[in-house]
Amino acid sequence: MTLHIPFDNSYARLPDRFFVRQAPVPVTAPRLLAFNEPLAEELGLDPAALASPEGLAMLAGNAVPEGAEPLAQAYAGHQFGGWNPQLGDGRAILLGEVMDRGGRRRDIQLKGAGRTPFSRMGDGRAWVGPVLREFVVSEAMHAMGVPTTRALSAVATGETIRRERAYPGAVLARVASSHIRVGTFQYFYARNDMEALVALTEHVLQRHYPEADGAMGLLRAVVDRQARLVAQWMSLGFIHGVMNTDNMAVSGETIDYGPCAFMDAYHPDTVFSSIDAHGRYAYRQQPQVAAWNLAQLATALLPLMGNEAAIPEATEVVQGLAGTYAEEWTRRFAAKLGLSAEDPDVQPLATRLLDQMAATGADFTITFRALAEGAEAPVDLAAQLAYQEWLNDWEAKNPDRTAMRRANPAIIPRNHRVEAMIEAAVAGDLGPLEELRAALADPFEPDARFDHLRSSPEEDEKVLQTFCGT
Ligand code: AMP
Ligand code: MG
Ligand code: MG
Repeated sequence: MTLHIPFDNSYARLPDRFFVRQAPVPVTAPRLLAFNEPLAEELGLDPAALASPEGLAMLAGNAVPEGAEPLAQAYAGHQFGGWNPQLGDGRAILLGEVMDRGGRRRDIQLKGAGRTPFSRMGDGRAWVGPVLREFVVSEAMHAMGVPTTRALSAVATGETIRRERAYPGAVLARVASSHIRVGTFQYFYARNDMEALVALTEHVLQRHYPEADGAMGLLRAVVDRQARLVAQWMSLGFIHGVMNTDNMAVSGETIDYGPCAFMDAYHPDTVFSSIDAHGRYAYRQQPQVAAWNLAQLATALLPLMGNEAAIPEATEVVQGLAGTYAEEWTRRFAAKLGLSAEDPDVQPLATRLLDQMAATGADFTITFRALAEGAEAPVDLAAQLAYQEWLNDWEAKNPDRTAMRRANPAIIPRNHRVEAMIEAAVAGDLGPLEELRAALADPFEPDARFDHLRSSPEEDEKVLQTFCGT
């Protein structure tokens, strides 16, 4: 079995200061934990060759296939609002790019592939927990139709990773339309490197937004994609958890599944990340944070847009996020409620329902799916007079329940299930991982075999905090 990957590495053709050439650091005993066959096929790669010992060696970082040009990308970023001029891939190696079956350019990156010049104090590694979390959650997001990076494989390294305790190590092969971040632009802006900013802008325009015109057109396009992406997250109860500017992809794909989580009980102030002490990245904050991040992108692009003279228009573009977001939010919640997006009652109806859900701590996913299936609402919610009034008003509109089943997932990767899956995997049992993957393959068409995975956590199963994917 020979592994042939037709790499075409456009990022490696950019100027030297965009990256550092760095091979993955080999690991002792690679073993496949999870493999995404449909994605391999989508990439035009032979799944059998990829899962062969030769393929496994590549996915573990033990062998660099012909045509790959491994590198660590340079970037900067605002982390929780604080500026860091030098981040970069500290534990990820871009092997290269391939053109997929649809003619789209896709990065193949190994996350947890060892130290790079950007590692600072880090070990360059990842443990199986965050690797499997990203594998399951990013693939579930894709299955729900959310733009996202993908997971091709998860490989155990046979090595031990030291965190708050010792864990088994792993490497994730991540596929993305690119790994270019808001922080990539900030990196060159902060260095006053106009030549690099021009080259990066041209690269991104060609790669992601061929129809957009110049730096202002790029800003407009990214604002549009992010506004719609975040509205979609909100419609699914998804909390990213670490929306730093280095974790926002200019492609509009969801990236960096560190402390992310889906809400169980609905409350707009919900925050999971253990390091987000002030709730900067709480559920309700996400649209505002997206706008804040894109204001940083606008700042970085300003020299290419005409400096001071461009400020009014750039400001208007960034502020335009709110309008696009509201429109997309209404469209998404209209679909969730089986109503037409043109119906002026969508916004007030959705808001009334959400207020009642927040007041009673109703489970976000279960409540909407119950409405779609014509099933009973969670007990506390159903007991509210205001909810019964709401239900009458809503049902009077003859909602389209068939459409609702395509907008309201029956099953999501709930935190307590993800945690239990990780615990089992660490103990050597991959059964729960395989079960979760199968259950989440089509979240809108539930299979009775997986009904036990649909429920919200019992009191003692609740996961109150998630930890950064280190
Ligand atoms: P993140 O919180 O995942 O967005 O990562 C922020 C920065 O820390 C990035 O530059 C990462 O490459 C780097 N980083 C995170 N974990 C590690 C690690 N274990 N080793 C080296 N660098 C890391
Ligand atoms: Mg990151
Ligand atoms: Mg991370």
